[in-house]
Amino acid sequence: MLTKAPKGTKDIYGNEMPIWHDIENQIRGICEDFGIGEIRTPIFEHTELFLRSVGDTTDIVQKEMYTFDDKAGRSITLKPESTAGVARAYIEHGMFNDPQPVKMFYISPTFRYENTQAGRQRQFNQFGIEMFGSYSPALDAEVISVAEHLIKKLGVKDIELRINSLGGPECRAKYNKALREFIGENLNGLCRECKARYEKNPLRVLDCKEEGCKKIISGAPSILDCLGPECREHFETLKEMLNQMGIKYTVDPQIVRGLDYYTRTVFEFVTTSIGAQSTVCGGGRYDNLIEECGGPKTGAVGFGLGMERLILTLQAQNGSDRPKPYRDIFIGSIGQRGFIKSQAVVYSLRKHGIKAECDTVGRSVKAQMKYANKIGAAYSAILGDEEIEKGAVAVKNMETGENINVNIDGIAEFLNSVK
Ligand code: ATP
Ligand code: MG
Repeated sequence: MLTKAPKGTKDIYGNEMPIWHDIENQIRGICEDFGIGEIRTPIFEHTELFLRSVGDTTDIVQKEMYTFDDKAGRSITLKPESTAGVARAYIEHGMFNDPQPVKMFYISPTFRYENTQAGRQRQFNQFGIEMFGSYSPALDAEVISVAEHLIKKLGVKDIELRINSLGGPECRAKYNKALREFIGENLNGLCRECKARYEKNPLRVLDCKEEGCKKIISGAPSILDCLGPECREHFETLKEMLNQMGIKYTVDPQIVRGLDYYTRTVFEFVTTSIGAQSTVCGGGRYDNLIEECGGPKTGAVGFGLGMERLILTLQAQNGSDRPKPYRDIFIGSIGQRGFIKSQAVVYSLRKHGIKAECDTVGRSVKAQMKYANKIGAAYSAILGDEEIEKGAVAVKNMETGENINVNIDGIAEFLNSVK
């Protein structure tokens, strides 16, 4: 127990870190270009917020939330998704009074009590964006374009964009009726949970992961046939915008997403590279959520992208070669004076922006040189009494073995000149 992280959680460190930093930097750069500001909401919220927004017939609310009472008896939940918190913040801070649309992004840990497997953890990280304040399909197109640009820029291959429209309340009511009829005729072949979903929220059946259910559902009626004229036009305009933006997509009437708050547009970026857990990014429009949570009626669109699944996809395609370690210089030492001096020299080099290391363990000179090799030092030097008295040291190029005599005070200048 003491030496094992809880099931479904992972430490991210060492050689894995560069890819995280790279993706996070790309995200920040892209959001800057698209005029999307960052928001950091709390890791936990009042449980009620998720019941209200995510929906109480969803898998998330029924099975996956980390919910507990705090010491004062309030029901608290670790965020199982971030849209609810961002929507709450939009209302709480009166952002509806700001010029619309309000565009925000987050990178956040997310918590779901799930059966763990590759690409399915209990704590994972999501990058997401939310845009508030417009009903136009232009906002849907802009949100989709952020995800597509990031995926392209990272060079992820084999990812496909699938889009659908769930319509508004009227189209949904019409579709629920048609779907309930279809499910009713096929009830025997469905899993136990789907039988319950059939009663409470038939749309959820389309999201079932059981193979048997998936097979039956493939013959279900299409929601697109139930769209009213306005929703149909909204969807058509979105498609035309995507066409002109050069964003490829396929229309998939089976996409419903796992959250209740979606209206009209829903979309997924799906990959074939990482097996069953293939949805890397999912999102859509949620025009009723802000009102549902106590704000003014506000059109909104967003997505959530699983960082771990994105990285797994990249690694499946590019291999997971570990980046070689690299340091500019290792300053070794002989004797106590050298040992003490080397700490000061390295500190001074670091202040000049040089990636310098020294011995902090008390190794023999031979062991220090081995260490210099292991950490990928480009140059090395050894400080002893003689070097300190002369004020100069032999700096060795670790690749060629060549030695160059350099003033101890001039090491930074020398390294900058050979970079
Ligand atoms: P799935 O159908 O795979 O369960 P979901 O519909 O529950 O996904 P969303 O709630 O839309 O997923 O979350 C957006 C993204 O977050 C997903 O597309 C996925 O990349 C990622 N994600 C969701 N759940 C997990 C998890 N347990 N572990 C890692 N990533 C996840
Ligand atoms: Mg899920």
